[in-house]
Amino acid sequence: MRILIVEDETPVARQIASALTEAGHDPKTVRDGEAALDEVKKTPFDLIVLDIGLPGIDGFQVLKRLRAQHLAGRVLLLTARGAVDDRVTGLQLGADDYLPKPFAMRELVARVSALGRRYAEEPVMSLRVGDVTLDLASHNVHRGTQRIELSPRELMLLKVLMREPGRVFTRTELCERVWEHEHEYDTKLVEVFIGRLRKKIGDPPLIHTVRHVGYTIQSGN
Ligand code: CA
Repeated sequence: MRILIVEDETPVARQIASALTEAGHDPKTVRDGEAALDEVKKTPFDLIVLDIGLPGIDGFQVLKRLRAQHLAGRVLLLTARGAVDDRVTGLQLGADDYLPKPFAMRELVARVSALGRRYAEEPVMSLRVGDVTLDLASHNVHRGTQRIELSPRELMLLKVLMREPGRVFTRTELCERVWEHEHEYDTKLVEVFIGRLRKKIGDPPLIHTVRHVGYTIQSGN
């Protein structure tokens, strides 16, 4: 698994990295929360080993931001021993498991592989059109290996289109699906959001205009 270690204490971080490497994983280490968020935006990780006590923003803040942005897979939180509140907060914020410090490296490796198994057992739920994939669990969108950052609304619009590739949606239909709970919407919004999606998805284009009708998503072949 590709694993991100977020730990400011260098000796601990080193030990974790070498234990995980030995167990056949591919770890990368960063020392603070901002660096962790940058790293995760660049490339997806299967798992993050996240220390709570960090310089700058703490592990809880990192976790909150990761979850809010639908980034990252599993998170194993490193908490202080006896700090029950920390564990509860961590789990509430969406951590998958926690490990109280200090811990034996053997235990860390065991927890990591248990989380990996859980990860592997979950069915892959993703939509694909051409080389664009949309992961329904994490809401990550990629074109090939390139990550595409979308706003929640753009994501919703893309999801509607990708669920039924080749089907032509009218502007009104898309409005109803994407702006479903809002009383006032304008079909011009659809044009704006389609424009943004096209720009972000890039070339060759996948979203096509069907004259006088609406839009459809389809790969060229
Ligand atoms: Ca620390």
